[in-house]
This record gives sequence, C-alpha cells and structure tokens, in this order.
Amino acid sequence: MTSNENLTKELTDYCNQIGIDLIGFADPRFFDKYQPNNRPHLFLENLKTIIIIGFYLYDLILDAWNKDENKDKSYHFADSILLNQCYKIKGFLSKHGFKSKIIPYKPGLYLKDAAALAGMGSIGKNNLLITGSYGSQVRLRALVTEAPLVAGNPINESKYCNNCDICIEACPANAFSEGKYNKDACLTYCQANLKNLSDKTVLWCNICIECCPIGKDRIHSIP
Ligand code: SF4
Ligand code: SF4
Repeated sequence: MTSNENLTKELTDYCNQIGIDLIGFADPRFFDKYQPNNRPHLFLENLKTIIIIGFYLYDLILDAWNKDENKDKSYHFADSILLNQCYKIKGFLSKHGFKSKIIPYKPGLYLKDAAALAGMGSIGKNNLLITGSYGSQVRLRALVTEAPLVAGNPINESKYCNNCDICIEACPANAFSEGKYNKDACLTYCQANLKNLSDKTVLWCNICIECCPIGKDRIHSIP
C-alpha cells in the first residue's frame, strides 16, 4: 500500500470511528469546469484533495432551520453536526502535518456535484445526490486539504432513475416539469409553504427527498 493509500485508509477509519455516515475524496482537476467562485482552489492554494462528508437524515427534523432574529443568528441542525465533524477531520489531518480548510456554504462548492465527482453517488432526477446507502436523505459538507488522498471515480449517471418519475410527479411546484430543475419555482413554493415547528424553527419542503424510494425504508417523516 502506498503512503497516500495508507493515509486515506487511516482517515476513513477515523471518520467511521467518530460516526461520519459518508465520506468521499475528489480530485481538484475535476472542478476546472466551474466558475472561479465555485472551485476548491479558491479556498486553499496547494490543495490536493477535496473531502466530502455526508450526514444521514435519519429523521427529517434534523433538516430544520432555527433562526434567532434578535441575535441575527441561524442554525441548521444537520449542518451543525457536519461542521463539528469537519473540525475533527481538520484536527486529524493537522496532526499528520497537512493543512486543511473547511469550505463555507457561500461562496462554496456545488456540494452534490462534488460528491458525485468523488464517487459517493449520482445526481438523480430530483436534482439531489442519490447514494446507495441512504438515497437522497443526506446533507453534505466539504473540506479542502493539502493531503494527497486517493480520489474516487466520478459517477456521471444515476442508475436508480431509469423508468422512475416519482419525484417529478410528486413535486407540488412542478419544478421538474421542463426536464430540468427550476430553482425559482422550488424556492417560491418552499417559502410559501414552510412547516413551522416553533416560532423560530421551520422545515422546508422535503417532498423530493421523501418520495424517492431509494433508502425510503429508513426515513421517519414529519407529519
Ligand atoms: S424518485 Fe425515482 S426518478 Fe426521482 S430521484 Fe428517486 S429514483 Fe430517481
Ligand atoms: S423541495 Fe419541494 S418544491 Fe422544491 S423541488 Fe423538491 S419537491 Fe419540488
């Protein structure tokens, strides 16, 4: 085993130990097709690898947003867990002598694309990452690192979506009706139909996650 393979295995084992559900490694060269603001090179000049981690939304309540208007702060429950895991990975790599940086959301990477480029899954007709273990029931975060980890093979096509249109038919905003994702239609619907869990906490429409049969048997829906 080469030193890069050893480090990749050590890091993967560490991530399993601390409860990270999904991890993948992408080659920075695959990102040259994106705008400069969405390339990993923006965050770390000498990067060698993009690390993507995924959190399994085993209960959709973990996808809720909490906003404290008085303090101008907001929290996303699943993302808080992911961020904490990113810091642990950063610490692990630092101990091995490699610099890393956690990528913010904005400006940031197209996380779903990054995960597909790392071989973690494919982009489905619902415009979300579909993973073999958890379907689309995942949230993602990424780091860039100078560590030369072994990258996965990109997955360009979804093997799950053949002969299936469930998400297209289930979307209340008809956001997939023209053969590609209509972000404006989705946002307009979501903002008008927030599920209020409390004065400060809301859930967005998750129908395209919930309706997808891949990994559906694992999820617990919010009524
Ligand atoms: S519901 Fe069907 S078409 Fe939509 S993402 Fe899932 S498998 Fe693909
Ligand atoms: S979040 Fe809701 S409105 Fe937006 S694409 Fe998915 S199902 Fe449609």
